[in-house]
Amino acid sequence: MKILIVNAGSSSLKYQLVNMDTEETLAKGLIERIGIEGSKLTQKVNGEKHIVEAPMNDHVAATKYMIEALTDGQHGVVTSMDEIGAVGHRVVQGGEHFTTSVVIDDEVMKAIEENAPLAPLHNPPNLMGIKACKQIMPNTPMVAVFDTSFHQTMPPEAFLYGVPLDYYRRLRVRRYGFHGTSHRYVSQRAAAMLGKPLEELRLITCHLGNGSSMAAIDHGKSVDTSMGMTPLEGVIMGTRSGNVDPAVLQFIMNSEHLSVDEMLDILNKKSGFLGISGVSSDMRDVEEAAEQGNKDAQISIDMLYRGIKKYIGAYAAIMGGVDAIVFTAGIGENSKELREAVMTNMEFLGASIDTEKNNVRGKETDISAPGSKVKVLIIPTDEEIVIARDTLELVGNKA
Ligand code: ADP
Repeated sequence: MKILIVNAGSSSLKYQLVNMDTEETLAKGLIERIGIEGSKLTQKVNGEKHIVEAPMNDHVAATKYMIEALTDGQHGVVTSMDEIGAVGHRVVQGGEHFTTSVVIDDEVMKAIEENAPLAPLHNPPNLMGIKACKQIMPNTPMVAVFDTSFHQTMPPEAFLYGVPLDYYRRLRVRRYGFHGTSHRYVSQRAAAMLGKPLEELRLITCHLGNGSSMAAIDHGKSVDTSMGMTPLEGVIMGTRSGNVDPAVLQFIMNSEHLSVDEMLDILNKKSGFLGISGVSSDMRDVEEAAEQGNKDAQISIDMLYRGIKKYIGAYAAIMGGVDAIVFTAGIGENSKELREAVMTNMEFLGASIDTEKNNVRGKETDISAPGSKVKVLIIPTDEEIVIARDTLELVGNKA
């Protein structure tokens, strides 16, 4: 079966068509500037680019162009839409309602809508993508895969904030966590690499990209994670602040006469690497600036190293030890400097890396030093394949 994976944002739509017999990606596409001038579709097949520039006023129009590109006589990969057996949609916030991926029906769509206040930037566009695909492909089964559902196994002491419980009871204010598909994927791969059942392992997974989150995965279950009710909490990120004393916000807002929205915009878009280094939100630029002697850039990087170390220590303490630490996503897979810095002075935990083995990029590798009790692994993440596999499983079960 061929499965289409859709990740719809407010003005963008990413898609991928996967042949599930071989798990091979047949085509990958990005539609940008939906609803604004300059809409553009870029599809890649076997490294070759096919670009379509045409007005796309909404997600329905974008979806039509996606199907046209996939079925295009010259640049397409299927002859008709009917060859697409199912669509898997990425949905950011599943709230407490969704503990697993689900086949999308009217009730599921309603629940995704109801969760929108918890993820106002993400759920509405995700839903627009679902609605558009349903309109264009009314007979194709669709599945929703949530960023949050993997973390629904967290106990209350991990997911509650220390605010009056009433806010949780009435408003569902709690930690949800994100990057669940990534943490799930790398934990399964870690178990395979170690040749042990996931149910026997205590893992700490570090998803470090533009957005970063850490997770404690105890015997296959997420028991804690660094992102919170929104993806703003945790370690310092590209443009997001990570943890901040909430009273700091009141102080800044009063001093600078800022509204709540303005303050949140600063925390989400102008903080993190960008805000501290003043150079860029991108780790490569920040590392380069630091190498050239930019002290603020170095401090921003050191803040990330320290943040990761703190979570590793905390999560090892919570799980009563750790069997493996996994690095994934853009920074985790690529920055040997980061892995080396984070894993320095971790012998007390029984963890050390081999600097030779660490000299690698984006490849599944065990970089532990000989004799390191705790294994340290690099595992490139693959969130798309998790969505495709869940979709196949659910659609297969339904048929
Ligand atoms: P997203 O969270 O948007 O999916 P990615 O997982 O692609 O992001 O990660 C993007 C981050 O990875 C950026 O900060 C980028 O600088 C960093 N990155 C990519 N390649 C390297 C590299 N070779 N060395 C250090 N950082 C890298």
